[in-house]
Amino acid sequence: MPFIAYGEAPDFEPKAFCCLMLNGKWKLHHFYNGKWERVNTGLPDDATECSPTAEWRGDKWRLSFIAGGFGDDRRYYLYRIDDLDNPIAEKVCLADVGFIWKNQIVYATRGGELSISGIQGTKNFHFNDVEWLYRVSYNPDNPHELLISGQKKGGYIFSWIFNPSKKYLYDLSDNGDVAYKAALFNGKCYYAKRGNGGFEDRHIVMAQNLRISELSYDDIVGNSQEANSPSILKMLQNFTNATFRWASAGFKIADDETLAKRQAICDTCQYWKASARLGMGKCLKCGCTSLKLKFDTEKCPVGKW
Ligand code: SF4
Repeated sequence: MPFIAYGEAPDFEPKAFCCLMLNGKWKLHHFYNGKWERVNTGLPDDATECSPTAEWRGDKWRLSFIAGGFGDDRRYYLYRIDDLDNPIAEKVCLADVGFIWKNQIVYATRGGELSISGIQGTKNFHFNDVEWLYRVSYNPDNPHELLISGQKKGGYIFSWIFNPSKKYLYDLSDNGDVAYKAALFNGKCYYAKRGNGGFEDRHIVMAQNLRISELSYDDIVGNSQEANSPSILKMLQNFTNATFRWASAGFKIADDETLAKRQAICDTCQYWKASARLGMGKCLKCGCTSLKLKFDTEKCPVGKW
């Protein structure tokens, strides 16, 4: 599904991004000099790349996208590229849908809650009756609006505009068709219209008769705030700092005995949340996962090891 964002002032020249099939895999592309060019993400050839979003930030295009399904780890992750002219893809978190906009990270696994993480912390949203989320992006005409497509229990496909701060939810359809995986730009709506074949037989169209219908926010949306937990932005920063210290010390790994001692201490610590981050565990003090325990250079933030 294409994503179009406004570019640099004063003319705000828009730029489009999409995924195109190359050798049987979806790959990230951007529209440049009148044609689609592949974004060289540096991920392996057998990686699937999809769901691009982008923003112009100061002097460069920044992208985020979902990729995975390669190597030994078949899961999908949210990635970011901070400079399209020098595209280095960095893994952000486990996610089947999501994007980054300014200092906000929005992400969810396919059947999980939607998390919005920013400077203030993380809010989690669940949507009653929703089974799967297929695409989450933002509306460049109003970046506080999220565009969410998914499937309800029972198979009904939906496409919504969701504004978590103003608490409204709208359904998007075009002449009775669900505006699936909608992208909004400059007052227009593009979506993946189903053809005569199977569910995946879709082509991009511009909505001719877009209908935006209000839904009952309170009946559909529930949310919770993660207390006492660093936001994912802080976690990213902590983890990057830990990685830097580790790299500076020559990538030294803690020996098995040290690792076992550290893990045993964390296991009985009030700040350790074993179920977090899909079973990797997380320290609620520093936000790091059990991976940090392996870095020889690291220390417990409260001095327990
Ligand atoms: S790193 Fe320290 S504070 Fe964090 S869970 Fe382990 S022992 Fe507790």
